[in-house]
Amino acid sequence: MELKVKKAVEILSKCNFLVVLTGSGVSAESGIPTFRGKDGLWKNFRAEELATKSAFEKDPKLVWEWYDWRRQLINKARLNRAHLAIARLEKMFEQFFLITQNVDGLHSRAGNKKLAELHGNIWRLRCITCGKVSFNVDVSLKEIPPICKCSGILRPDIVWFGESLQERNLAKTYASTSECDVMLVVGTSGIVYPAASIPFIAKDRGAKIIEVNLEETPITQIADVSIFSKAGEILPKLKK
Ligand SMILES: [Zn+2]
Repeated sequence: MELKVKKAVEILSKCNFLVVLTGSGVSAESGIPTFRGKDGLWKNFRAEELATKSAFEKDPKLVWEWYDWRRQLINKARLNRAHLAIARLEKMFEQFFLITQNVDGLHSRAGNKKLAELHGNIWRLRCITCGKVSFNVDVSLKEIPPICKCSGILRPDIVWFGESLQERNLAKTYASTSECDVMLVVGTSGIVYPAASIPFIAKDRGAKIIEVNLEETPITQIADVSIFSKAGEILPKLKK
């Protein structure tokens, strides 16, 4: 383990442009459920039954009650050492970009500014009628579903199952992925596309890949270093 950390530090010390890719593992270390499997059950609904456009059209109140509950959980969660280390890495590298699949906004709370939230942000709302995007950080929503000034229904600005990722985020993601010389992959299973393909693209373009995950993933086969441990324990070491 120590040898692997040493190798990762050596790779980072020669790096000019660092890209960090994070997934639900980083949020899980703050106690946020991953919303996969039985972990994601709420009132006997699975995430796949609620996080869709058709579920929202059928019953926006039900879907919002679920998001309201999730927002309350996230609000209580504390940043963990991985969040803090990643925020610090942004300051250490002149060229830096963070790509996250997490919607909890915790990376922003930790201070990261150069980032793409691939799957959206649970604190951001979008009107289904006029398209206006706004932030609402009321931990308990006053009205469910929330309503826009234009009287349209507001939805969470999150990429639901079956929806495509936002163009703006994708452009930044692919640009940084092809330009970086090191990609640090943290707490992501590597099975949710298109995020799963990002380390493979970086590798193809010649970047070194450092993986910090609890267990082997499809990324392990292309990683230059794979460290199987909690991100909160390893990332502070890499930062040094
Ligand atoms: Zn509106």
